[in-house]
Amino acid sequence: MEKTKGELLKEQLFLNRKDATDLLSDEEMQKVFDFCEPYKKFMDAAKIENEAVAVAVEMLEAKGYKAFEAGKKYMPGERFYYNNRGRALIFGTMGTRPIEKGVKIMASHIDSPRLDLKPNPVFEKDNIAQLKTHYYGGVRKYQWVARELALHGDIYKKDGSVVHVNIGEDENDPIFYISDLLPHLAKDQNARTLKDGIKGEEMNVWVGTLKFRDDKVSEKVKLNVLNILFEKYGIIEPDFFSAELTLVPAAKARDIGLDRSLIGAYGHDDRVCAYTSMMAELDYTNETPDWTSIVVFADKEEVGSDSNTGLHSSFMEYFIADLAAPYGVPVRTVLSNSKCLSADVSAALDPTFPEVLERNNASFLNHGVSIMKYTGSGGKGGTNDCYAKFTSDVRKFLDDAGVIWQTGELGKVDQGGGGTVAKFVAALDVDTIDIGVPVLSMHAPIEVVAKTDVYMTYRAFYEFLKADL
Ligand code: MN
Ligand code: MN
Repeated sequence: MEKTKGELLKEQLFLNRKDATDLLSDEEMQKVFDFCEPYKKFMDAAKIENEAVAVAVEMLEAKGYKAFEAGKKYMPGERFYYNNRGRALIFGTMGTRPIEKGVKIMASHIDSPRLDLKPNPVFEKDNIAQLKTHYYGGVRKYQWVARELALHGDIYKKDGSVVHVNIGEDENDPIFYISDLLPHLAKDQNARTLKDGIKGEEMNVWVGTLKFRDDKVSEKVKLNVLNILFEKYGIIEPDFFSAELTLVPAAKARDIGLDRSLIGAYGHDDRVCAYTSMMAELDYTNETPDWTSIVVFADKEEVGSDSNTGLHSSFMEYFIADLAAPYGVPVRTVLSNSKCLSADVSAALDPTFPEVLERNNASFLNHGVSIMKYTGSGGKGGTNDCYAKFTSDVRKFLDDAGVIWQTGELGKVDQGGGGTVAKFVAALDVDTIDIGVPVLSMHAPIEVVAKTDVYMTYRAFYEFLKADL
């Protein structure tokens, strides 16, 4: 039947939301599902920053990327990676275009909310040895108790050696546990607000109950636990001070739902954008690219990007300065002509809690990669508000390539909000916009993403590398 004038006009004038589940063919859906299988493996192998860096370096080296040498003049097609203290990573491919004309940056973060051990974590109380924790990032504490936890991280000993710890992922490993009250006796705790349902200093991890058999000593359970650690790793109690040990959910990435359309995993925020940007870089740069690509995996985003492995520090700027120096180009010239996708997740609308987002500007599962012109909170505070010209350029290359995308906003006005690394990259005079996968239950031990959105995010990053900007 012929369309009416109104129907045609509406098609022409209205913003038409695109739903990937309607638009993708069976073949395309198969590609979506296939793309997500290795993603789940990556998530299981890369639960913390150090592991994400190690896994990525292995994948990069297999594709011919070599450790960056400052002072070397990189030629078109040459691939490099720069490992920042084992916790952050920059990698990319030199393009044919002169570096003074700018580079294309994709910046994600590989840290996720979790429970870090305190510098002096071990104590014994009522014959139970426990570890004190200090939560990292925006954690809703009640979600982290009475569940299986795994211990990951590195211990640096005074002799310079490093011990890698990973306990709780293998099904034969023990796991770790933070207790909660039984409902029968939770009258007082139930009266607390949800935020304080579990308090920070109540997040103590159980590690043992057996005593070291020696009547002469006190704190026998703590001694027994420290002795197990000494026998296994050669560490003593003061070594915890120079350690980065963290508790993460002891769970693997799994499909969710009978139709397997969703993935539940720890730390989609933001390793889903790290992984998709890395795969775009690996796939696109099979041939020598036009623009030089710079992929950044940053640390410390969840605590404000501070520290020298976070993007509030100068490590990315210094890296680009080193890359440009042999060409006699000042870094500010490169940066002022550069483009950046701040690759970070957005909040998806949850039909159970729709009231925190404003429907017209919310991101929905399966509606593709989400672009946020700004993040921030309280009247766009603390954000990169991308100027409209670059927003338009991004719109254009995505539409031209048939990438399914949507707009997003981090909550309705004055509901809350948050930030990303975008403002730190934009502070270097780089054109920057936020783009990433919509996530449900963000910062929960298990977060949820839709497979079609993961794939569309990969496609968006690939098309960014290809785009004539
Ligand atoms: Mn994030
Ligand atoms: Mn986050």
